[in-house]
Amino acid sequence: MDNMKVLVADQINQKGIEELEDVAEVVVDTRITPEELIKAIAEFDAIVVRSRTKVTREVIEAAPRLKIIARAGVGVDNVDVESATERGIMVVNAPESTSVTVAEHTMGLVLALARKISIADKSVKEGNWEKSLFMGMELNGKTMGIVGMGRIGSQVASRAKAFGMEILVRDPYITEEVASKLGVRIIDLQNLLKISDVVTIHVPLTSETEHLISMPEFDLMKENAIIVNCARGGIINEDDLYAALSEGKILGAGLDVFEKEPPEGSKLLELDNIVFTPHIGASTREAQRDAAIIVANEIKKVFTGGSPKNVINMPVLDAESFQLIKPYLKLVEKLGKFLIQTAQGNINEIDVTYCGEMAEIQNHDILTRMILQEILNPILNEPVNLVNAQAIANNRGVAVIEGKRFDAKGYDSLIKIKMKSDDSDVSVEGIFLKEPKIVLINGYHVDVETEGTMLIARYKDIPGIIGAIGTKLGEYNINIAKMQVGRKEVGGEAVMVLKVDQKVSREVEEEIKGLEDVYEAVAVDL
Ligand code: NAD
Repeated sequence: MDNMKVLVADQINQKGIEELEDVAEVVVDTRITPEELIKAIAEFDAIVVRSRTKVTREVIEAAPRLKIIARAGVGVDNVDVESATERGIMVVNAPESTSVTVAEHTMGLVLALARKISIADKSVKEGNWEKSLFMGMELNGKTMGIVGMGRIGSQVASRAKAFGMEILVRDPYITEEVASKLGVRIIDLQNLLKISDVVTIHVPLTSETEHLISMPEFDLMKENAIIVNCARGGIINEDDLYAALSEGKILGAGLDVFEKEPPEGSKLLELDNIVFTPHIGASTREAQRDAAIIVANEIKKVFTGGSPKNVINMPVLDAESFQLIKPYLKLVEKLGKFLIQTAQGNINEIDVTYCGEMAEIQNHDILTRMILQEILNPILNEPVNLVNAQAIANNRGVAVIEGKRFDAKGYDSLIKIKMKSDDSDVSVEGIFLKEPKIVLINGYHVDVETEGTMLIARYKDIPGIIGAIGTKLGEYNINIAKMQVGRKEVGGEAVMVLKVDQKVSREVEEEIKGLEDVYEAVAVDL
């Protein structure tokens, strides 16, 4: 294409600029102010930013030629992705640019702890020569437990293997097949903590992983174990880490990330058996260079008619098709959210059937992608979107099956989704009637709005159970707004769906599960 113009609004590596110059006229203005940007953007086809420049709705509305917004890095908080999508502008990033860099930093912290490098360094600089104080631990022959086997976790695994370590992995969302390709062994978190000499965390921070490592977990660890967190602050409970380190429950810790950054006033700063770095896990020249090259190549692809791979949004439907599938997009979004919160174990298969009138509409593919996006997004750090969802599912060994049926059980349209995992299968059916609704859960008929929090319990259909669950919620001040029960036969298994006004914590979930004749209880936030 001729006469393409790219604005590089934040400092990026020169290699990225050189790549762009192959296909476009490049203007580098890394001091451009928000006001100047709104005036200047009209003449550009692409903009490259890091985190300084904010690509707001105002900027996007002033940009009639803009086709692509590129973030030379991972997070896209500084880009109004929704406005870009509305205007048909692609947003791309470079999620893989930092994986090796963070993995190397993780190994750095592991080695610093195993060989007491940072305290030995301090001691030598203070004029001491205390060789006997710094007896270390070899990594060779030891076991590393990796919590979260995504892009960074996998890079850590291959590096730790080179050190002669055996690798155990806790990641409920990877399959045995993927694990065996990576040469690692999947194990549950408890056993990983019991066996590992080094534990390293590489999961995103979500409601499920917040304080994933607290006192009960430290209690399981070996006395001479070390733990490293280069993921996000808040995954390790810092009060409990302080107690575990000062009581000698574990040997040491390495942290690149903190609950509060900087960790001013943290008690952890008083300890010797901990190594800190100021959230620099991703800070290398190479990672920045790679981010610049990756996004430059994405822009090149867009300018030359190719398909970029790191697209955050999906501005590809025309307005008419979009209106047609909009309600169903909302429905599948809710069904996907429901499924991932009720799933247990590694997901192997997602089977979607479009029934009734909607079997005839086009663009099912986008609905299926939306389901995958909702299922995979909460468990992955990389943004899963309508473009990459299918590819990510394939990479993770999740089979995706799509079907159509003309019978919609008396509704105009109905969507059925079955999700198979190692530990359980979940099926859900939904309709759109003014708003998305769930009409079937695991074979039980229900009629559930898809807003707010609900608690779903499977229990034995005998007197007293509904009361016991209600009482338990009452003890925690959780108000029941609506209740539905479904059963297939009297005295058999029944399902209860409670719409509640407050969030249901894991603790409450566990207590309800512990009630007699309750088989399962799970809270879902929609
Ligand atoms: P990723 O999305 O590629 O991988 C995350 C993995 O965690 C996935 O395999 C997922 O299945 C798994 N997972 C999700 N929930 C889990 C759970 N409850 N238990 C076990 N596994 C679970 O992400 P990534 O790019 O490898 O990033 C990993 C972490 O590193 C993120 O928290 C990210 O924010 C952080 N990060 C830190 C820095 C830094 O500067 N220190 C830089 C980049 C990324």
